[in-house]
Amino acid sequence: MAKIKTKIKRMMIAIDTERCIGCGKCVNSCPTNALELVDGKAHLKDEKICDGFGSCIAVCPTNALYIEERDAEPFDWSILNTISFEDFLDKLSKHYRPEEIKQP
Ligand code: SF4
Repeated sequence: MAKIKTKIKRMMIAIDTERCIGCGKCVNSCPTNALELVDGKAHLKDEKICDGFGSCIAVCPTNALYIEERDAEPFDWSILNTISFEDFLDKLSKHYRPEEIKQP
């Protein structure tokens, strides 16, 4: 039997594409790899893997990222099993040193 996907209201990252310059810093700093670049703009790959904490906001040079409450699929906690602890810490630390994030 197919699993029914139920959306819930929760905090999610949102992208102002007018402000996004496609630098990729948010993509390379997202601990859960929830972001990608599509046609030179940041894009949320999969809402289930966005934790909604908004740590990526700190690295954006143009303030194109913000948090909003909206209907979305619940966060998939199993994504944390696919991320190495070292990689997770490395990406989190980049939020405090955004100048070290390389272009994708
Ligand atoms: S960090 Fe900001 S400007 Fe750079 S790709 Fe992400 S949203 Fe766009």
